Amino acid sequence: AAAASSKADRLYSHCCYCSMQCGMDLIRAENEIGWEVKASQLFPVATGRLCQKGLNALGHVVHSERLLSPMRRIAPAPVGNASASWQSASWNDALEDIAVRIKAIQQKYGNDAVSVFGGGSLTNEVCYLLGKFARVALRSKYIDYNGRYCMSSAAAAQTRAFGVDRGLNVALDEIPKAKYIILTGTNMAECQPTMVPYLLEAKKQGAVIVTIDPRRTMTSKIADIHINLQPGFDSVFASGLMHVILEEGLYDKRFVEEHTNGLADVRKAVRPFSPDNVSHYTGIPMEVIRTVARGFAQAETGMIFTARGLEQQVNGVEHTLSYINLSLVTGKIGKPGCGFGPVTGQANGQGGREHGQKADQLPGYRLIEDPAARSHVSSVWGIEPEELPGKGVSAYELYGKIHDGEIKAMIVLGSNPLVSSPNSARVAEALKKLELLVIIDMFATETAEYAHWMLPSSSFLEAEGTLTNLEGRVFHRPKAFETPGEALEDYKIIGMLAEKLGRGQYFAFDSPEAIFEELRLASAGGIADYSGMSYARLKDEKGLFWPCPSPDHPGTPRMFEHGAFKHADGRAKLHAITPMKPAETTDREYPFILTTGRLGNHYLSGAQTRRTAALLKKAPVPVVEIHPHAAEQILLRPGDRLRLSTRRGSLVFDVKVTADIHPTSVFVPFHWGGEHSINVLTNDALSPISRMPEFKVCAVRLERVGQD
Ligand code: SF4
Repeated sequence: AAAASSKADRLYSHCCYCSMQCGMDLIRAENEIGWEVKASQLFPVATGRLCQKGLNALGHVVHSERLLSPMRRIAPAPVGNASASWQSASWNDALEDIAVRIKAIQQKYGNDAVSVFGGGSLTNEVCYLLGKFARVALRSKYIDYNGRYCMSSAAAAQTRAFGVDRGLNVALDEIPKAKYIILTGTNMAECQPTMVPYLLEAKKQGAVIVTIDPRRTMTSKIADIHINLQPGFDSVFASGLMHVILEEGLYDKRFVEEHTNGLADVRKAVRPFSPDNVSHYTGIPMEVIRTVARGFAQAETGMIFTARGLEQQVNGVEHTLSYINLSLVTGKIGKPGCGFGPVTGQANGQGGREHGQKADQLPGYRLIEDPAARSHVSSVWGIEPEELPGKGVSAYELYGKIHDGEIKAMIVLGSNPLVSSPNSARVAEALKKLELLVIIDMFATETAEYAHWMLPSSSFLEAEGTLTNLEGRVFHRPKAFETPGEALEDYKIIGMLAEKLGRGQYFAFDSPEAIFEELRLASAGGIADYSGMSYARLKDEKGLFWPCPSPDHPGTPRMFEHGAFKHADGRAKLHAITPMKPAETTDREYPFILTTGRLGNHYLSGAQTRRTAALLKKAPVPVVEIHPHAAEQILLRPGDRLRLSTRRGSLVFDVKVTADIHPTSVFVPFHWGGEHSINVLTNDALSPISRMPEFKVCAVRLERVGQD
């Protein structure tokens, strides 16, 4: 049974498995775990609702494979006995050895030879501390995190258009007021299931819902119109919508004139994208293009939500901007029932990108190369601005730096990059070259196969802290359970290692609240300003939306009211987008498109959900979805498996033939490692702007693997 941190029979927490962060009650029970999970009535975001993942969120917490003490690799594993290669150690010995090795590597190769890879499911306090650890304890510029693979295109697009990136720019409770809702590249029915009731309520009140996706997903099943779009054609379709809106004069002239710049360039850019041409490129009927364009523009209120489907592409920033353009020209932003938002995936995907884990950023969502930002943050940290390292490189590029010999050590916290990175065989080759790899995690993940040390950390129930949900609402999550064995909360591990490195004076925090107090100061005056928040306020007010710049500020549920955008001139920027091809297009050798995504029963690399029996039972292995026409083309027979080959490798999967997938494409979920790891095949081409890899489109060859 899990050990509670108090004697209460009912404890409160938040689900760890997506950006909705639903409230959950933990109630003592007469079962193996000693507790059961129920939906809480306390948190206003998804009151009384939990999906299957939330209801089973205790599964991994009490799993027998939890790391219970620091583990040192002692030798290559004897065949058939992988655990024999690890030996437990005391915290003191572990941190001493790691610190000695880090110092030796830095002495030989320079401070930047040691890097940090963080995660978007960590608390705000840990994200903040990790960024500070890289810059102040290691004095290295090389830190980035798995959110680079998640929200970076959306973040770059929102920053370019609005001058700020705050997830959704409205609270979820505004969704029922929207009369026209476009969901593009988001399958929230599986990824954020408790968001769906907001859509259903909007629909009940007369809203039209449109989904745009190469798959007819569970989300598209509640839509009035589903656009079955080939992966990679997102800006083409959006340009078609914009063409109709401008040609027919359906845009909000007053809003555009008073609050935006750039319409003339957009008008020019979309001129070639008539419904006729877009229909020719995409196969979407002209009438459908006109219906959606007119419906959205003429609706009294409306919202657009995007997600990874269109963002995880080399053109992901441009795709997102092309939909932001639609929100702006129709004036559907900053008003009741209106808004735009990329639906964040990871539990703290929003907070994870605000506090300095990104290679180019400091806390408060400040740019690390901005002298004023460096001066402010260094004064909070008690160092000189010149001591702050500069800008590093993005998550995937860190592995290039290892291949180049510039990075010799890596500390990975709360992430499993071997499974989540594209072209992952190249990542494995990089990890093999490291002189020191330290994994701070609950489990021996696939990435840990290459580690020299594994340090046992806390689960979501064992660490107090704050998180920022998909709306930009910051809330407090209490500690419910004690960490098992010798596992420790992340902030303690970071602090102890900093001390061994001789920089302990900068990390002397005795609680997450003490870290939050410093984070508040570091964020003050920045874009993501938390300075008016405190643990007391967050608890009393059930969360606060940033920006919240003073203790009497109520927070900001709706951004951009009255067209107040965050660029220097107060206006939003429309961007002229010229749709570009994906990095890889199909040819005779690789005639189909591979696209990837999530399932409702798993989370990220599956390190937690594959260790939850109830969830694994529902989706034990990944299955390729293929259209009947494609199946016929390759002469697939019942009972066959399917070999997928791309320019990076070849893997065999079980198959599901379904008309729900676009005929040009196959879909594979990404929650598995080893022989089931689809990221062995995905393309590592990066967006030139956001450095997002192209997870969603690559060329693939399909071959039946028969039983005969
Ligand atoms: Fe809520 Fe998301 Fe957890 Fe499901 S996975 S219970 S929607 S936080």
